[in-house]
Amino acid sequence: MGGAGLTAESSAQRARQRLAAALRGGRASHAYLIVGGGEGEGAGLARELARAMLCLDARGGWACGACPSCRQVEGGFHPALRWLAPEGAYVRTDAVGKALAELWLRPRGGGRRVLVVEQADRLTPAAAGRLLKTLEDPPVHAVLVLAASDLTSLAPTVVSRCQVLKLGAGGGAGSGRAAAMGPAAAQVLERLGSGPPGAFLALAQEVLESPLRQPEALAALIERLQGAFRDALVLALAGEAVPLLYPDAKETALRLARTWPLARLWDASQALLLAQEALARNANRRLCVEALFLRLRG
Ligand SMILES: [Zn+2]
Repeated sequence: MGGAGLTAESSAQRARQRLAAALRGGRASHAYLIVGGGEGEGAGLARELARAMLCLDARGGWACGACPSCRQVEGGFHPALRWLAPEGAYVRTDAVGKALAELWLRPRGGGRRVLVVEQADRLTPAAAGRLLKTLEDPPVHAVLVLAASDLTSLAPTVVSRCQVLKLGAGGGAGSGRAAAMGPAAAQVLERLGSGPPGAFLALAQEVLESPLRQPEALAALIERLQGAFRDALVLALAGEAVPLLYPDAKETALRLARTWPLARLWDASQALLLAQEALARNANRRLCVEALFLRLRG
């Protein structure tokens, strides 16, 4: 465990350095997305970011740690900082609405307002929609900081509006998964990436008539396809900044990222998650696979 901790710490430090350099160069963004990291690490970086953004005496992109503003952030009572986290299963829609209304108010004495959303992958869809509107056209004084465990647990429209700060270790959906793509999944992907729309159902048929139809093989295939679309989404949204689940299938993921529109990549990734859940519930495999490939056809 000690080794993982060291890696995580140095990646957090790297993220802080990059951030400080950006602030130093006057290149502060209106929206940041902190991805991954161990427990409390994303929140820690979000707090540091808020401190640097609100500090009255920031130097070289770092908060001074001593001014009244820094002390208020540390104490959790800075009037221009709003901090949201899930209450129960979700970050509540009304809490997000209230925080956004506040964000639009011009701060007293100039300066900025900062809104932090911890575990932003647990926003209700309605709340994410409202947040997106502000991300698309934020007030000049606003800084939004989202933290989430995995890049693909958020809508791509939200991710694409944020500067992504990647922390190590917390691979989210990917941690602990075998990193070999496997020839069957690679072949299916090859044909998904390049085949005409009509080929998709034929492909479903082939899968259903092959040894891949066995429950375990099918679950593995779908998990790998899901990983591949996740990688394609990551490449489309964050470029090479975020490690892939299946580096050996990078070419395929790149091709998907280049040739499929973002919305379709997202839809495919969601369809594969649904299929995974349905198969885990022992749903009819044939119907599952056919429905999945129809949806992948777009
Ligand atoms: Zn300060």
